Amino acid sequence: MKRYTLREKMNGIPEPPGKVWFWELEAAVIEAERCVECGTCVAVCPSNSIGVDPDTNLPELVKMCTGCSLCWDFCPRGGLRYEALWPPSTPTVTEDRISAMTTRVDSADPYWKITGGPPGDGLGAVLERFAVRSSKRTEGVQDGGAVTAILSGLLAAGEIDGALVSKPSSDPNQPWRGVPTIATTPSELAAAAGSFYNQTMALAEMDLSSYDLPPSPRIAVVGTPCEIQGIRAMQSRRWSTGNHRIDAVVLTIALLCTKSFDYEALMLRELVDRRGVDLDRVSKVDVTRGRMIVEYRDGEIAVDEPVKAFHGAALKGCDECADFLGRSADLSVGSVGSAEGWTTVLVRSERGRLAFQQARAQLDVRDLDDPDALIRLDGLDKRIAERSLQRKLDPDLPLFIDYEEHVRAYEGTDRRPAVTSR
Ligand SMILES: Cc1cc2nc3c(=O)[nH]c(=O)nc-3n(C[C@H](O)[C@H](O)[C@H](O)COP(=O)(O)OP(=O)(O)OC[C@H]3O[C@@H](n4cnc5c(N)ncnc54)[C@H](O)[C@@H]3O)c2cc1C
Ligand code: SF4
Ligand code: SF4
Repeated sequence: MKRYTLREKMNGIPEPPGKVWFWELEAAVIEAERCVECGTCVAVCPSNSIGVDPDTNLPELVKMCTGCSLCWDFCPRGGLRYEALWPPSTPTVTEDRISAMTTRVDSADPYWKITGGPPGDGLGAVLERFAVRSSKRTEGVQDGGAVTAILSGLLAAGEIDGALVSKPSSDPNQPWRGVPTIATTPSELAAAAGSFYNQTMALAEMDLSSYDLPPSPRIAVVGTPCEIQGIRAMQSRRWSTGNHRIDAVVLTIALLCTKSFDYEALMLRELVDRRGVDLDRVSKVDVTRGRMIVEYRDGEIAVDEPVKAFHGAALKGCDECADFLGRSADLSVGSVGSAEGWTTVLVRSERGRLAFQQARAQLDVRDLDDPDALIRLDGLDKRIAERSLQRKLDPDLPLFIDYEEHVRAYEGTDRRPAVTSR
């Protein structure tokens, strides 16, 4: 553990009961290599005492910790019981435009809980589900470009003032590293299209003071499910969150996610050093159908290997995550379940439905090809999470129960070209 001199000076002084300090989060999550770099602890700290270490991309204490406990309480690898944030399956219609969210907890929901309870089947709360692609082709999108098109539509309609997305780092030594940004124009959104397979400490970027935004901004957030859990938790249990404008979030879009990676370990060590990949030539990195595929701009496939071969570069905390489907978001999006060139979109809330309708003119929409593929992969994700917890008691247990099962989870999602359109 880092040395905290204040902490040492306090030795012997009785502390008030019930406090949890940053260094306890640091010991239990960050130094235990369980941090998933979501930035929730940075955003929730009311005294702005937590920053991002530029060398490690991990949270660090930058000012005095008051022991308010919030960083622990809201951390998806700490005290946050994220399953309690999944929205009820029967949401009500109350809004005619998207607005700041509140979450109702429905204790009767049968969703699977990582901390107990029987596994439930299904996709969580889903009002509508579609395969979607942008009606206008945009360079660099990952699948159907649905996310970029929806956000562009909302921006054009004045429904949002900006969106928290990830853009390529401007550091020439860090090609293909995603960094968080608030995009406020269609060209900024387009420049941020595509997937970066690293976590960005995204919610730390919700200190909006460096952006030119109206006094009461309306921001959409695109993030991995753990980041959406952090947003949802902070919005459903209102606290002063220091400089971070969680109150500005009017829409959440979760990227379906089984794991994310450490940038240096994946991009520099595995791809550049071990496989000789020239990152300056890369047009797309994709984790799909259980494989890691890296493609060059001239169409050459630089890497096509089982994603299991890259497990050492994945964030260890992702093994514990059972929220592949981004159940607490307004919209969940991914490639699984749709043919190549289309994005799977699960509309989970009335706010999500409204946003989807407002952007509808920019989208081609049709039925999902294989919704069961989502359920199969979700089941596998949950089993890995469960096994990850069992391994804390018995470290000799293998994490992957059966790799063939991973491959089978994708069967049926052969990404054949789509032929029909709605
Ligand atoms: C780490 C990671 C793991 C994923 N795993 C899966 C999976 O297992 N199965 C699956 O079906 N789909 C997965 N996805 C989602 C998939 O890659 C696409 O993002 C999704 O299908 C949307 O495609 P699109 O063409 O509509 O998005 P686009 O129009 O290309 O827009 C993508 C948006 O996501 C933002 N973004 C990119 N990287 C990040 C990031 N690291 N953090 C936050 N925002 C980001 C971009 O800035 C952009 O706004 C994953 C994405 C990521 C980033
Ligand atoms: S997982 Fe998120 S909230 Fe927890 S320590 Fe890491 S960045 Fe902070
Ligand atoms: S697997 Fe879970 S914890 Fe890891 S980045 Fe994805 S949503 Fe976050």
